[in-house]
Amino acid sequence: MQNTVSEPAREIPVRGEFDVIVAGAGLGGLAAALAAARTGAKTLLVERNSFAGGVATAGLCCSIFNCYFTGKGELGTTGIPVEVADALAAAEGYGQAWRRHKGHVIYDVERAKWVFDDMLDKAGVQVLYNAVTAGVVKQDGGVRGIVVETKSGREAVRARVVVDSTGDADVAALADAPLRSCRTGLHSLCFRLGNVDVDAFVGFFRKHPEQYPELMDVHWTLDEALAQYDDCGTFLFPHGGGMQMDAFRRAKADGVLPERIGTHDTTDACQMHAIRRLGVVHVITGFVHFDGLDADRITRSLVDGRRMVFTVADAYRKYVPGFEKAAVIEVAPNLGVRVSRHLDGDFVFTAAMMAAGTRQPDAVGRAVGWDSKTLHKGEKAWGCQVCRDDSFDLPYRCLVPKTIDGLLMGAGRSICTDNPWLLRVMVHTMVVGQAAGTAAAVAARSGVPPRAVDVQAVQAELRRQGVELG
Ligand SMILES: Cc1cc2nc3c(=O)[nH]c(=O)nc-3n(C[C@H](O)[C@H](O)[C@H](O)COP(=O)(O)OP(=O)(O)OC[C@H]3O[C@@H](n4cnc5c(N)ncnc54)[C@H](O)[C@@H]3O)c2cc1C
Repeated sequence: MQNTVSEPAREIPVRGEFDVIVAGAGLGGLAAALAAARTGAKTLLVERNSFAGGVATAGLCCSIFNCYFTGKGELGTTGIPVEVADALAAAEGYGQAWRRHKGHVIYDVERAKWVFDDMLDKAGVQVLYNAVTAGVVKQDGGVRGIVVETKSGREAVRARVVVDSTGDADVAALADAPLRSCRTGLHSLCFRLGNVDVDAFVGFFRKHPEQYPELMDVHWTLDEALAQYDDCGTFLFPHGGGMQMDAFRRAKADGVLPERIGTHDTTDACQMHAIRRLGVVHVITGFVHFDGLDADRITRSLVDGRRMVFTVADAYRKYVPGFEKAAVIEVAPNLGVRVSRHLDGDFVFTAAMMAAGTRQPDAVGRAVGWDSKTLHKGEKAWGCQVCRDDSFDLPYRCLVPKTIDGLLMGAGRSICTDNPWLLRVMVHTMVVGQAAGTAAAVAARSGVPPRAVDVQAVQAELRRQGVELG
């Protein structure tokens, strides 16, 4: 069998022209599009799903890791990441109360889709859903637009600058930019259980505090978790905690919760995000390990994952207090891919720079990193994320591809780093997105390629948007 075929070249219609196109509407793309539009650019946001949010909605991962604050309790990130947390918290009814706690900011994913639409509308971003970015328009060695596949057919859209917020660096790959791949990623299929008596679940830990996995995954105690619950109505049961709780140990011993279901392993890890108002608990459990760009293995993990979800839900009903009448109400439409492909650029942002809080001359964002420290005494103890005392600077250079012009990376996990895990969490990807969107708009306005943009002008614009750069 022949391994390749030729696609015939053809003329396609041009759907429109923009200053900035953002491909991918995860939290990185959302921040990029908002920032570009607020800088005055005519902006288009293109998304393959029928709503924005990416992993934060389609992946059913409904919790922003609260690394907003340094270990000293100072706000280490400003701008759109804070605005998004405030908007989600306000929609959930607890306003800015999340700022009093260091636990994850937990929100309702359905409302989040609407909150994001509203923010995009108000900023004047034009949005195109159900649109896959399937190609790039190249001219003089630079990216000058993208090709989209929609129900209307295959069309081109021109832009002065394209921001790649697909998370998988799809646009950069289509443009033949140099990239690095993660052959073995770590992915999860998340789900939601409804009809949960959340007060009973939380009440169980009030009576049996030794069953709560303090200092697993997050740097906090049961008292802190309960304080957040009483204040915000949201409760975090940390990742890996299932391996420390008797209920899950019993379910495993009885053979009701297998350690492995198809391609998914560690089905007892069980991170849970509970929302009292809805009687809903989001669950992240089960890991699959493969190159997150392998279409066949993604499909297999979705099929196995749905079987895993219903098996795990049976175990919850039988063993976990408060879940006696729980039902699966949603399995994530998308597999949650943590890392896949990222830029091989001129400038490599390193873990050492992040740890040292190195000040960067071309800083276009500031955020808080953490150290993973094993503080839990349990048998299968995981490291917990201990936020550092100082924030770090995001350098502009690590968003810029080596050889291709007209393109910027706008998602945390796909910039040029020595470790794609460094900036993958929600706060960090929004910092990267806001920086990329602002720089793209400034470059478009000045008529220069992103590589030649005046970084001081970008910094001035970010400050105008409320970003503190020091
Ligand atoms: C299982 C899991 C649990 C996590 N837990 C946490 C947590 O508790 N707290 C936390 O802060 N972070 C967590 N993270 C990390 C965080 O959720 C994500 O890294 C972050 O939301 C990623 O946002 P993003 O915009 O960079 O990428 P994505 O959310 O992946 O967004 C990319 C967007 O681009 C779209 N897209 C992709 N390709 C194309 C294309 N070719 N054409 C058009 N559109 C395209 C996608 O549909 C998607 O909407 C978790 C991640 C996973 C996977």
